[in-house]
Amino acid sequence: MTDLHRLSIRELAEGLSQAKFSSRELTEHYLKRIAKIDPLVKSYVTVTPEQALAEADAADVALKAGNATALTGIPLAHKDIFCTKGIKTTAGSKILDNFISPYDATVVEKTKAAGLVTLGKVNMDEFAMGSTSESSYVGATSNPWALDHVPGGSSGGSAAAVAADLAPFATGTDTGGSIRQPASFCGLTGLKPTYGRVSRFGIIAYASSLDQAGPMARSAEDCAYLMNVIAGHDAKDSTSVKKEVDDYVANLNGTSVKGLRIGIPKQYFNVAGLDADVKARVEESLKKLEEMGATLVEIDLNMTEAYVPTYYLIAPAEASSNLSRYDGVRYGYRCENPADLMDLYKRSRSEGFGPEVQRRILIGTYALSAGYYDAYYVKAQKVRRLIQQDFLKAFENVDVIAAPSAPTTAYKIGANLSPTEMYLGDIYTLAVNLAGLPAINAPVGFDKDSLPVGLQLIGNYWSESQLLSIIHQYQQNTDWHTKRAAIAEENA
Ligand code: GLN
Repeated sequence: MTDLHRLSIRELAEGLSQAKFSSRELTEHYLKRIAKIDPLVKSYVTVTPEQALAEADAADVALKAGNATALTGIPLAHKDIFCTKGIKTTAGSKILDNFISPYDATVVEKTKAAGLVTLGKVNMDEFAMGSTSESSYVGATSNPWALDHVPGGSSGGSAAAVAADLAPFATGTDTGGSIRQPASFCGLTGLKPTYGRVSRFGIIAYASSLDQAGPMARSAEDCAYLMNVIAGHDAKDSTSVKKEVDDYVANLNGTSVKGLRIGIPKQYFNVAGLDADVKARVEESLKKLEEMGATLVEIDLNMTEAYVPTYYLIAPAEASSNLSRYDGVRYGYRCENPADLMDLYKRSRSEGFGPEVQRRILIGTYALSAGYYDAYYVKAQKVRRLIQQDFLKAFENVDVIAAPSAPTTAYKIGANLSPTEMYLGDIYTLAVNLAGLPAINAPVGFDKDSLPVGLQLIGNYWSESQLLSIIHQYQQNTDWHTKRAAIAEENA
């Protein structure tokens, strides 16, 4: 079969269980596509064909023996931020270029236990800091829709791999938008779960009070399958929550769009820099949901202007603390011929970290230092609480809140935005992480340059089922999620 990469996760699962094709055939199909097409997209940092084929053979044995799970034998790619035993985990940084984790992240452990086959690790911004995936020390990844454009970031490799059909689905992480924005730039569906829904154990830490992992795929249905595997409490992550996990697949039609109240924040649609095409496509998608029975309710989110400054204090503060462990002594990159211990620390860190990471360590260290701590860090935490309260108040009157995922479509590679310009591009995603809420991106059309546009729906705590269900029904009534970039149509 030459078109296995066009099948949805449900179709792949059916095909495998009915022995229409084997996991080995499916895995070889993807490995062939990666070998041929990925040199153009550059989504993978590491491809692991031997391990993938061994896992595929084990999956085929389980399928034959009748002890397979719903997803046994289906391949996936992991963002290179998830620790993988025996496979390099770099987080896009030179400082971890030689790092092989002695253990698997809980998410990886769970995908393995579910019988999923790991194709390899995919590219990302260094330590997940960025919105283009260009800050990776291995270089930029291309957007499958236009190879001279970025796939977004920081989970840009995950998005590009799925959009080019080089993996059926992928894991990502979202600290301030890193699942939703690349999903938006690449025409995919991506879910950022409630903080604490998915274990952070074994995910290289960026900003621990904001980091959360989630699925990136073509459709809400495909995302639901991966959520069923990765969600749940983990004793190894004290911030993961002991709360029953929904069956996200079974709930795909569980929320009625009829009567659904969708909040439209006035402030969001008046942001300077909101592209006219993005605005138009998002409004069209909301009109469609209205036709399906939803009610659009104008709401106020008065803290909108505070999102960017608040996040860009708290996230760098936590990053400066998390990244202090990379000292050239314990693991990772070490400079050549250090003169003494101070020289070892200084040069290992200044040679090992890229410019954006260094910028954030400096900002974060400053914000946490005695004398400035109250003025910056404590104040930002107080504003964070106000942002959360703003959302909770809104959810008294609406079920979900709609927004663009990003004010623009994908940037050109090398556009060289200033840090401030880049940070302002995160306006629609950051508050969700500051408040710990779940949110989803879904593709809703294209701009004048044929680049994908994304709609974001933000839900109340633990509303992952509801978000997936709304988007699933939207996708039953539209076909944006079935559109494929030309490069994905190519056969290997
Ligand atoms: N673009 C944001 C940042 O640079 C978000 C990144 C993320 O979610 N990991 O921090």
